[in-house]
Amino acid sequence: MIQQLPVLRVCISCRKTFDRKDLLKITKDNNQGIMLQKGMGRSAYICKSKKCYSDSKIKKKLQKALKTSLEPEFVEIFEKEIASYNNYPH
Ligand SMILES: [Zn+2]
Repeated sequence: MIQQLPVLRVCISCRKTFDRKDLLKITKDNNQGIMLQKGMGRSAYICKSKKCYSDSKIKKKLQKALKTSLEPEFVEIFEKEIASYNNYPH
């Protein structure tokens, strides 16, 4: 039996380490631009604590981490995604 070790990544906001599957992944895909939870390329991770994803500077931090500017289409998808987290009992 192969033991699956968790892949750890750092939240770009609080800088804490989390299991990758508990993080929101934002990838600057080489062909398709910025994507949520998919894509290949430079990635940034945000944990699902309200303090982080609703941080007023989170988009700036994302742009810095991905070394790109966020497309309005992505910002719309991102905001829809984090709005759904508000339903979680944090
Ligand atoms: Zn965080």
